[in-house]
Amino acid sequence: MSQATAPLPSFFNDAPSDASAHSESRREADAQLFAHAALAVEAAAGVPVAEAVVQSALHLEEVARARKHAHEMNKLSKRLHREVGQAIADFNMIEEGDKVMVCMSGGKDSYGMLDILMNLQKRAPIRFELVAVNLDQKQPGFPEHVLPEYLTQVGVPFRIEEQDTYSVVKRVVPEGKTTCALCSRLRRGILYRVAKELGCTKIALGHHRDDTLQTLFMNMFFGSRLKGMPPKLVTDNGEHVVIRPLAYCREKDLAAYAEHRQFPIIPCNLCGSQEGLQRQQMREMINDWDARFPGRVDNMFTSLSNIVTSHMMDRKLFPFETIKATGAPVKDGDIAFDEDEGCGEPTEGLPAQASVSLSSIKIRKAD
Ligand code: SF4
Repeated sequence: MSQATAPLPSFFNDAPSDASAHSESRREADAQLFAHAALAVEAAAGVPVAEAVVQSALHLEEVARARKHAHEMNKLSKRLHREVGQAIADFNMIEEGDKVMVCMSGGKDSYGMLDILMNLQKRAPIRFELVAVNLDQKQPGFPEHVLPEYLTQVGVPFRIEEQDTYSVVKRVVPEGKTTCALCSRLRRGILYRVAKELGCTKIALGHHRDDTLQTLFMNMFFGSRLKGMPPKLVTDNGEHVVIRPLAYCREKDLAAYAEHRQFPIIPCNLCGSQEGLQRQQMREMINDWDARFPGRVDNMFTSLSNIVTSHMMDRKLFPFETIKATGAPVKDGDIAFDEDEGCGEPTEGLPAQASVSLSSIKIRKAD
């Protein structure tokens, strides 16, 4: 990923070695070959091959598969920790002495966020506190024992805030209308209050890269705005700083991590509200692009950190009205007719010989 704008602290930098992956796949291939060869000898020559030999080869294969899986999970874990560390560093999300309120919904993303933050906390060169907070909204069937048990087991300070927003929402919102807007507003207010009561300096939310892209497209398609989901912001009441440490993480990585770590996930449909149709459409569109055009989604995400305001049309961000030619070349300045405008592919990266000097073009006079 190329979002990096600040050097990554060395304690976050733990790239896996390729050598073990290679020997792992060799071992697995050897085990498979051995088992197949033994069976082929038996079939072709009528020579009985001891069952134990075949079994042990198959066992080796199984072991190799398990090792390969462990290696992949190790790589995944390192990637996620690295991405979270990078996001924290890039946006200065956590500072010395911070008390971070980690919002726990019981979904895979919030478990992953807490788990990774707890690991980074042990290795970070700065001291910061974590406190997990869950808002029990009294949705029917909410398994209230799950989070307290988990949080006690992992040894993080926590608070379960019980507020029956479910009944309020059901009472106020007419049947058939979407409940999320009011529910989120109520939840936000309660979490702000809890953060204040706990003396938290940051509120960490578990939104990831896919959430950001979905939000970006929803805002563009339905709200006529180019607006994503910021990795760090000041709350509307001006009292809190919200951070999104998973901002660089892919949803599919977080899902695989949650499965690997066997987090006790609480289903997210207890309120009976369906996920917004628009968000679902955005997710499908982005996943489809990701499957059909590898790299496109990565590039889209990276583009959020490379905005050229002079090439947009927002007069609040660029002073189009007042720009004037100075006669002096502008370093990294624009060319009047972009090479990648209009017809054809972008030409960035063409060899120097591909450019044509105007003086080399013969102009024929009109007859
Ligand atoms: S999905 Fe349910 S819990 Fe989540 S915001 Fe909507 S109404 Fe609230």
